[in-house]
Amino acid sequence: MANKTTNHNINVDKFRKAILNWYDKHQRTLPWRALSNQTPNPYHVWLSEIMLQQTTVPTVGPYFEKFLNKWPTIHDLANAHQDEVTHEWAGLGYYARARNLHKCAITVSNELGGEFPQEQVELEKLSGIGGYTSAAIRAIAFNKPANVVDGNIERIMSRIFAITEPMPDSKKDLHNMAGLLADDRKDRPGDYAQALMDIGSSICIPKNPRCALCPVTDFCEAKKLGIAGELPKKKPKKVKPEKMGHVYWLTNDKQEVAFVRRDEKEMLGGMLGLPTSEWVLTSDEAIIPLTHAQDSKQHISHSFTHFNLRLDIYIAHAQEGIIKALDNVKWVSRSELSEIGIPTLFKKVVKLMK
Ligand code: SF4
Repeated sequence: MANKTTNHNINVDKFRKAILNWYDKHQRTLPWRALSNQTPNPYHVWLSEIMLQQTTVPTVGPYFEKFLNKWPTIHDLANAHQDEVTHEWAGLGYYARARNLHKCAITVSNELGGEFPQEQVELEKLSGIGGYTSAAIRAIAFNKPANVVDGNIERIMSRIFAITEPMPDSKKDLHNMAGLLADDRKDRPGDYAQALMDIGSSICIPKNPRCALCPVTDFCEAKKLGIAGELPKKKPKKVKPEKMGHVYWLTNDKQEVAFVRRDEKEMLGGMLGLPTSEWVLTSDEAIIPLTHAQDSKQHISHSFTHFNLRLDIYIAHAQEGIIKALDNVKWVSRSELSEIGIPTLFKKVVKLMK
């Protein structure tokens, strides 16, 4: 292949060679990553990529191992009950991912004979697989050329090309630039993508990038200009809206606690949780608590991606009137409370009330 240069005069072959040489010596060992003498397992790659969306590598590690121990193949995962999957997912957040993961496993198992497709269009027809995940699966599981760009790689590109336009406006340009270095290359696309991820996590880190250790420091415009630590620039964050609501700690004569399955259309939809009121903006009208429930004077706070939430904890002995107002109550004994798979928000309440 003829040597290509980007319009920023980066020699693509040399750049990739530097990245791949570094990877051969310094790649991270990760539970889902195939060793150099192994063929990647598409089930492992897909599972890890879904878990890693909005979640860090150290958090995902134990979940990945737990899922593989419980469901060693995609057919096993497809045959699991959705409740079991969301139960095991509890704590990873963004619960729609767990439901989509399960839906995807069912499709791949039942309709595709357990084999993930290799083409982007086919991959993106599956639940929970968008542009980034399809590119990552293509490159890492099947070693196909693909432009894999996560937040780490956006940061590296912003520095290599010294892009000073703030994110997210510069996102498209950063992806195009990553594509100049990646897209049509057939030499080790999976290793190249994973190498950039590793460099982003350990060397080209958000604050104080460790340029002295970087294999592509000679190609880096931001380093030359002395502005690496300032990039990528970001637009000032919008202040998150504040919401509030009530959460109910309802107990029966056996001192069991009432949990309900949340509506699919709500936040944390489909998950088991303590009963709550609606969550409203703090500027809205006050919420009227359930009859007979008393304010415990305690509350928990939780931050979601798009808003902060404060839930005031109300307690009540579960009388018939209250229970009738709730659908599908599941009573959980005190001893089961620490094992139950519930979102972190409700774990905070359990911790306070236990
Ligand atoms: S030289 Fe520094 S800023 Fe540039 S890519 Fe490497 S670590 Fe990042």
